[in-house]
Amino acid sequence: MIDLRSDTFTQPTPEMKEAMFRAKLGDDVYGEDPTVNRLEALSADLLKKEAACFMPSGTMANLTSILTHCPRGAKVLVGNESDIYIYEAGGASVCGGVVYEPIPTQSDGRLLLNDLEHAFPEDMDDPQFALPALICLENTHNRCGGVVLSLEYLDEIQMFARKKKIPIHMDGARLFHASVSMGIPVDDITRYADSIQFCLSKGLCSPIGSMVVGSGEFIEKVRRWRKMLGGGMRQAGVVAAAGIYSLQNMIFRLQEDHQKARGFAESLSRLPGIKVNLETVQTNIVLFEILDPRFTWRTFQHMLQQKGLLVSEMGFGRLRAVFHHDVTFTEVDEALTAVKEVLAEGPTLMEGDLVVGGDKPIAR
Ligand SMILES: *Cc1c(COP(=O)(O)O)cnc(C)c1O
Repeated sequence: MIDLRSDTFTQPTPEMKEAMFRAKLGDDVYGEDPTVNRLEALSADLLKKEAACFMPSGTMANLTSILTHCPRGAKVLVGNESDIYIYEAGGASVCGGVVYEPIPTQSDGRLLLNDLEHAFPEDMDDPQFALPALICLENTHNRCGGVVLSLEYLDEIQMFARKKKIPIHMDGARLFHASVSMGIPVDDITRYADSIQFCLSKGLCSPIGSMVVGSGEFIEKVRRWRKMLGGGMRQAGVVAAAGIYSLQNMIFRLQEDHQKARGFAESLSRLPGIKVNLETVQTNIVLFEILDPRFTWRTFQHMLQQKGLLVSEMGFGRLRAVFHHDVTFTEVDEALTAVKEVLAEGPTLMEGDLVVGGDKPIAR
């Protein structure tokens, strides 16, 4: 099987497992795991912020960040196509009484300042209104096809947020894909955000883990929320060692994944009946649509699976292929062959043949 459902399917490499095996361990709830402490220091250094906190998942990283920035009853301004809004079970409103205000997401991942402006009440002292306390950005933007936010935009939105006196949190699940794609150090991006979460468990190949990065004072509060939510982990150095390995060895190679995505997208775009917007293919994600009326996205996805190719669905019937360490360039060619074969053979099954919800679960 060639698995392009997500870059979360990467397996730790033998060298990474070796690093995990050798890790020095302690109790991280006591702050005594030397490997976790190293990973946190390394992450803060890389992003040029004061401190960092190791998290079991990106979801908990975003949740603890929002809960730290927002008092109960405040609004968090999130993109209506963001992972935070769509895929994180409404955690901030469940756990923190925070109101999500969905802002329209542009196809390039931006939230327009004009739309954000509308989330602020005319009269901030009028007790009727919930007050905005945080803006969340996603970079790269998953449901927009892995697009990168430009530095001009980040500068603009930082000025806006400062004027409004509220912080910016960046959901950088694939933050390093953005910096590698732009060819700039990651802190050229993170200087525009007050807090950032990034995933070690996606393109960087760690089995588990995300980091929240920000000011020292902010991270202290994040640690309390993490403990409260059950994210205090004991000898967590065993997984933090994988994270250190990821940061030291897995960033530079993301360029390869971008090349795989680009090659795949360009070939797809030449096939009749398939639509790809090449402009959005900037990193490791390719969104495409099957316009050939003989298929639905579901039958097409299922037939690809029968040819040994797994892809996911990303809303509105768009299929998603994500490129990562564990797909070779040869497999990219094989994936294209599978697509061509399905198109050439035509539909061998119909929508009614599929048990809805009974096929592969949708992956992110
Ligand atoms: C995967 C992802 C997350 C959540 O990370 P988990 O570790 O799966 O909880 C958050 N934001 C974006 C954009 C993601 O792609």
